[in-house]
Amino acid sequence: MKNKSNIFCQLGCLAKLNKIIDFSKYSKIAVLTDANLANLYKDQLKKILKSKNSKLIVIGSGENKKNLKTVEGVWQELFDFSFDRNCLLINFGGGMISDLGGFAAATYMRGINFINIPTTLLAQVDAAIGGKTAINFKFTKNNIGLFVNPNKVIIDPLLIKSLPDREILSGFAEILKYAIIFDQKMFNSLISKSFLSFTLEELKEFIEKSYSFKLKLTQEDFLESGSRRLLNFGHTIGHAFESLSIQTKAYLTHGEAVAIGMLIESEMAEKIGFLKKNELEKIKKVINCNYSFKLSKKLNLENIMDKMKSDKKNIDNKIHWSLPITIGKVSYNQFVDEKVVLMSISNFLENYKKNVKKN
Ligand code: NAD
Repeated sequence: MKNKSNIFCQLGCLAKLNKIIDFSKYSKIAVLTDANLANLYKDQLKKILKSKNSKLIVIGSGENKKNLKTVEGVWQELFDFSFDRNCLLINFGGGMISDLGGFAAATYMRGINFINIPTTLLAQVDAAIGGKTAINFKFTKNNIGLFVNPNKVIIDPLLIKSLPDREILSGFAEILKYAIIFDQKMFNSLISKSFLSFTLEELKEFIEKSYSFKLKLTQEDFLESGSRRLLNFGHTIGHAFESLSIQTKAYLTHGEAVAIGMLIESEMAEKIGFLKKNELEKIKKVINCNYSFKLSKKLNLENIMDKMKSDKKNIDNKIHWSLPITIGKVSYNQFVDEKVVLMSISNFLENYKKNVKKN
């Protein structure tokens, strides 16, 4: 995405999509969504589909559907509908839909036009922006994918109104990540009240700030060879927890996994002399006050470490960490002694077990 004009954000803009997308440019359109959204937004989707020779493609929701089999199903539907390069795919959904739909669009006929309409807070602040598309393979997160930008991202914060609280909190984890990486003032606003009590107008401000940060970094370093790695704060450990939870009943949302990752990675940052103790406490407090995690008994230090060692961001088998130096500033390409990593994860798991026993 070259500039901000490719992102359109306005409360209620879904109702006037015809004014934002020039449908006349495309011979056909298809809308990809998941089963929950197809039901919840039936009328709005009908309206979009009415405007053109069009097709609705509905896939199952959830991280365990973000795989090659589902992509094959999407390719098949596009093929049966004689979709060509002059057509447009609209990804209407959360990060699962924009990741998978972006991947399907980028690979079908070597790439067709696609637009993201993110419907979760997490996708509006993060997943739908920046051009990373992916599916999971062999229960490992996002390890098959491409960097490719959507033609446009259209954000209607009103869509958040139908999101369950757990999914709103999931999105807030990424907002908190941006605040810790870039903006102490934003962090202070975030800790001023509980995440679920922010108004839609306040949310809109957080959304705009967050995607602006992401856009700036992705413009600087699209392929993540440098500064874009800052955004991996919380994700190295977070992805390991999330990948391992996909196969269990106690699945973690992406944001919950990132919140756990930020807790543990902040502790590592404090142990190596980056973060001050009182800053670590502030980060712990905001996460512990807003989230309650449920972890599968199958998660343990050994399988978490194994998962992290197979992370695609590693170079020469070494984990490159993005760690906070202070609230509002993160440093990337940091190497950390494995003992510190082990100790920080163990502390988290032990505290978790103690809390479970208490309750
Ligand atoms: P999701 O897409 O799985 O959606 C979560 C749930 O919310 C689903 O059940 C969905 O049906 C439902 N839902 C979506 N919008 C709704 C709405 N408006 N009202 C009611 N229900 C709604 O989850 P997510 O958190 O949006 O995305 C997570 C995915 O995003 C993960 O796969 C993660 O790897 C990916 N991700 C990608 C990037 C990137 O840069 N590409 C960044 C962060 C996360």
